[in-house]
Amino acid sequence: MRFLEKIFHSVSTHVLPSACIVCDKYQKASLCAGCLQSLTVESLINYECCYQCGITLEAIELRGQHCMQCNNNPPCFDATYCLDRYEGVLQNAVHQLKYQKRLAYAHGLADAWNCILSKQLSVHYADYLLPVPLSIQKLFARGFNQSWEIARRIHCSPKIRSIPFALKRHHHVFQQAGGKISTRRLAIQDMFYIDHSYIEHLQNKSVIIFDDVMTTGATLNEIARVLKDNGVSHVTNWVLLRTTKAPHV
Ligand SMILES: [Zn+2]
Ligand SMILES: [Zn+2]
Repeated sequence: MRFLEKIFHSVSTHVLPSACIVCDKYQKASLCAGCLQSLTVESLINYECCYQCGITLEAIELRGQHCMQCNNNPPCFDATYCLDRYEGVLQNAVHQLKYQKRLAYAHGLADAWNCILSKQLSVHYADYLLPVPLSIQKLFARGFNQSWEIARRIHCSPKIRSIPFALKRHHHVFQQAGGKISTRRLAIQDMFYIDHSYIEHLQNKSVIIFDDVMTTGATLNEIARVLKDNGVSHVTNWVLLRTTKAPHV
């Protein structure tokens, strides 16, 4: 985080009152104690989830730690860690950040991640942390990449290097919300590429991809495919919110 921004955040956190990003109650932290407590209890880290795609497992899938879909059709990424369900209490905060462009919510969402997941993930080894990119057109329209705004505020090992622009995305008119997995996979094919100047750096490296929301996993699968086609050895997804049942399976 830039120096002046750090000072401003520190002053605003400690001096000015702030609203909880979940219940809107005014108090000091961006997430009040009550909401943090219930989020901690409800977090997906407390549930048995598929090691590879992060979806909650059915009883029959528990033994292998893999969901049926990953067993039958393994994705290109190797592991996924998710903070909470998409249907949970943080959904509105993510919408405020993305669609109302309220950047302050990125602090609160990163705080939630840091309080609940950072300690567990501090042992996770990787060389790079890359956010899921937006196309240049979308970036201009929104003014920021929400995944990067959260990712750059989360606490992780200083050995992991965060790079906002190594991954690039073509602009497609197709809107991704909804639709069958097969349709979405087709629409997302060849949408991502690696900035030429980073290809060499990523050879045989372990990479974390940060995304705000994971639904079918098609986006993250395509990113992992592109990374591995270009020599990356291991891809882990860090995801803020995960739909617990993929639509139209
Ligand atoms: Zn609250
Ligand atoms: Zn799975």
